[in-house]
Amino acid sequence: TTKAGTILYLNGVSVSFDGFRAINDLSLVLDKGEMRAIIGPNGAGKTTMMDIITGKTRPDKGEVFFDGNIDLTRHDEPGIANLGIGRKFQKPTVFESHTVEDNIRLSLKGERSVFAALFAKNSVADDRRITEILETVRLDGRRDALAANLSHGQKQWLEIGMLLAQDPKLLLVDEPVAGMTDAETAETARLLKDIAREHSVIVVEHDMHFVRELDVKVTCLHEGSVLAEGPLDHVAADQRVVEVYLGR
Ligand code: ADP
Repeated sequence: TTKAGTILYLNGVSVSFDGFRAINDLSLVLDKGEMRAIIGPNGAGKTTMMDIITGKTRPDKGEVFFDGNIDLTRHDEPGIANLGIGRKFQKPTVFESHTVEDNIRLSLKGERSVFAALFAKNSVADDRRITEILETVRLDGRRDALAANLSHGQKQWLEIGMLLAQDPKLLLVDEPVAGMTDAETAETARLLKDIAREHSVIVVEHDMHFVRELDVKVTCLHEGSVLAEGPLDHVAADQRVVEVYLGR
């Protein structure tokens, strides 16, 4: 395998906590522009893998490269965020007392203070970008609503919009549809597919109906390494995957 053309390249990565191998010789390659779904039972190592990619956890062993040849093991967490890796945690964290529009404005990349973002004269370029992001995350009709008044699903979308405002090259999204209605879940699949036209995306998800709607290559983790990889039907038909999910 070559790193050229990849947005993420993990090779032989291991990490232990107090002698317990949470990640065990993990290799995973994501092409530029690819969206990948990561599945696996509780304790499979999904969160720890995301922690390694974002620099929250340092691997004991192995290679972690971003965007070709950037060695992520040489960067700390804020450095990795600056390189263009955005992470959305399961629980939405938005500025509840600000409008939807201002939530995006506050998240636009740059050194502006919160004060400047809210009170400075708006630039036309910023306004255009904000509109574009709000359209992508299906919130252009809720621009002036307070974030606090959005549904749970809409708050998740707003936070995805806030990530987009940072112009990431790679988005890591953790269980985006947990707690969503069926309609919101279906819309989230379409929304992420739109985003994936211009970004590389990793989605960790338990909801297999949602993973099916994403219609992307799936990686199933188990005991800190890759158990199966490929189209969902192929992975779901793998006897080892079945056994792991049934807990046998
Ligand atoms: P998943 O996200 O797939 O549910 P995790 O990455 O959270 O899995 O956990 C993988 C394994 O590593 C689990 O057995 C978990 O208990 C263990 N683990 C994760 N983080 C730590 C930590 N900071 N200290 C000790 N054990 C941990």
